[in-house]
Amino acid sequence: MKKHIITGVRYLTEFTFVLQMERNGLPFQTGQFVILRRPGTIEQREYSVYSGEQDDFLEVMVREVNDGKVSPRLKKMLPGDELEVDGPFGFFRFQPTMFPTQKFLFVATGTGISPFHSFVKTYPELDYKLVHGVRFGEEAYEHIHFGNEKVTLCTTGDNTGNFNGRVTDYLFTQKLDSDTQCFLCGNSEMIHEAFDILTGKGIPVQNIYTEVYF
Ligand SMILES: Cc1cc2nc3c(=O)[nH]c(=O)nc-3n(C[C@H](O)[C@H](O)[C@H](O)COP(=O)(O)OP(=O)(O)OC[C@H]3O[C@@H](n4cnc5c(N)ncnc54)[C@H](O)[C@@H]3O)c2cc1C
Repeated sequence: MKKHIITGVRYLTEFTFVLQMERNGLPFQTGQFVILRRPGTIEQREYSVYSGEQDDFLEVMVREVNDGKVSPRLKKMLPGDELEVDGPFGFFRFQPTMFPTQKFLFVATGTGISPFHSFVKTYPELDYKLVHGVRFGEEAYEHIHFGNEKVTLCTTGDNTGNFNGRVTDYLFTQKLDSDTQCFLCGNSEMIHEAFDILTGKGIPVQNIYTEVYF
């Protein structure tokens, strides 16, 4: 593991924040994750890279989990503090030219939006649709970095989104071309349900890519 100094913290809501740290030349392909550990501790956790491939810094977006071992400690970190970083890891990699069609559907719950932020930062010209599921509208984490017309915010706890209900309820209402490349990231329940909905709508299994957080 290598030490990286924290260079900035952005608090997006009471619970969710973006940690920016030195990149120190760490190579990664957008969609991959790193493992973070606080120096002197043994607990470590995976976090998708939030920043783009070209950025000279490394960012991750973290949601503080109630009674969690690591995320509440990460929330207390300040610029100048050090984190140990290992990686990159993972196969949720994205390079648009790898795909036979350029029709992309990104589906996220909560902080599962993080790798998609990295995709779009890395490929600003990308044509895609993003469906983001949260409880409350205030969790539309930095949607300003995505094109407004490209994002559908699904909220279950209030009516401030574009759609009131879960991402899977929304997907159910949608017509999709069978050559759409579908990327799913977030909690396993959403991923399993969305997988069934998408295959039921004629999307071949090999066009569905998943990253399960918990
Ligand atoms: C490949 C991968 C990438 C990940 N990327 C991110 C990321 O970019 N941002 C991020 O915030 N988390 C991400 N996670 C989850 C992260 O690794 C930790 O599990 C999370 O921060 C909780 O750690 P903790 O030590 O605070 O909680 P723990 O003490 O480990 O407690 C975990 C409990 O919290 C639940 N839990 C885990 N994550 C969440 C969550 N996000 N929301 C609600 N409940 C949760 C688990 O089901 C479990 O019951 C990722 C996980 C994987 C496997």
